[in-house]
Amino acid sequence: MKKYNFYAGPSILSPFAIGETAKAVENFAGTGLSILEISHRSKEFQAVIDEANALVKELLEVPEGYEVLFLGGGASLQFYMMPLNLLKKKASYVDTGTWAHNAIGQAKLVGEVEVVASSADKNYSYLPKGFKVSADSDYFHYTSNNTIYGTETLETPEVGVPLVCDMSSDFMSHPVDVSKYACIYAGAQKNVGPAGVTIVIVKTDLLTKEGLPTMLDYKTHVKKGSMFNTPPCLPIFTCLQTLKWYKELGGLKVMEQRAKEKADLLYGEIDRNKLFKGTVAKEDRSRMNVCFVMNDGYEALNNEFFEFAKSKGMVGIKGHRSVGGFRASLYNAMPLEGVQALVACMQEFEAMH
Ligand code: PLP
Repeated sequence: MKKYNFYAGPSILSPFAIGETAKAVENFAGTGLSILEISHRSKEFQAVIDEANALVKELLEVPEGYEVLFLGGGASLQFYMMPLNLLKKKASYVDTGTWAHNAIGQAKLVGEVEVVASSADKNYSYLPKGFKVSADSDYFHYTSNNTIYGTETLETPEVGVPLVCDMSSDFMSHPVDVSKYACIYAGAQKNVGPAGVTIVIVKTDLLTKEGLPTMLDYKTHVKKGSMFNTPPCLPIFTCLQTLKWYKELGGLKVMEQRAKEKADLLYGEIDRNKLFKGTVAKEDRSRMNVCFVMNDGYEALNNEFFEFAKSKGMVGIKGHRSVGGFRASLYNAMPLEGVQALVACMQEFEAMH
């Protein structure tokens, strides 16, 4: 039976990225050695990181004055590392979920933090709007896609100060005007590669703080092209394959179209099917993580649907414990066919009840 991977992260990768990685594990770039055992200082690996860097810049149309870094430590390290580098006096944050909340906590260890709004009052089921950001903030930080709760900010916020964004779970799913940002960071393990590498895009003229710990100083990694120390070679190699695949398919506008088509199909079924309902405000629905629960009166069918869907090849649709129900993650590598299979499954289950 064909399986469809709806995990929230680590998550589905394209057959191309997995196939090329498998080949490189056996024999990398014709060296007769595995990518797992070759020096990061070899010319063959240098070519990998250079091409990955260039493709991030090309796909996102990164303007002059920014650098792309490939770092370890996950997006969670960036919750601290980014403010350590960019928070000079004060920073503003919006609290839209667990990850935003964690980012706020870490920034407070560095300096003054203004929390402009929060949707914690309704279990993060909507995105706060109409808030004001202090004009003297170094930056405004937001989480573009709230992986756990299934809300997403698709429009670039206009708040009068430079933006910083945790784009971990919708990175590369649509074009972004990078010039509006001081920094963008994203753990690779949702839309780009396996766990182990985080992509950071930073405006280099903002890196003026001195005396930071070497490994936590963006300047270190800018100067050394992400090779101050041994980088996560294999994850970077797989990221490169995904980036090549995105380019081959036509870039981020195509990713956006695909994401929209898949999300519309699944939300359409959630709204139509009497057994299910969505969990977040409709205007804030995420294209990447679609959260839904059993409708009022059908709550008792929760586990039965989970088992039924599993028997039909749907993997990883259990909702996060803070929301319950189901979460179908529709990252770039999920084919439309996977969403059609899930919808068919929901319809069949409806017919049974
Ligand atoms: N930010 C977002 C939006 C996430 O979804 C996650 C993990 O799921 C994180 C941050 C934390 O990432 P990491 O596990 O790479 O530290």
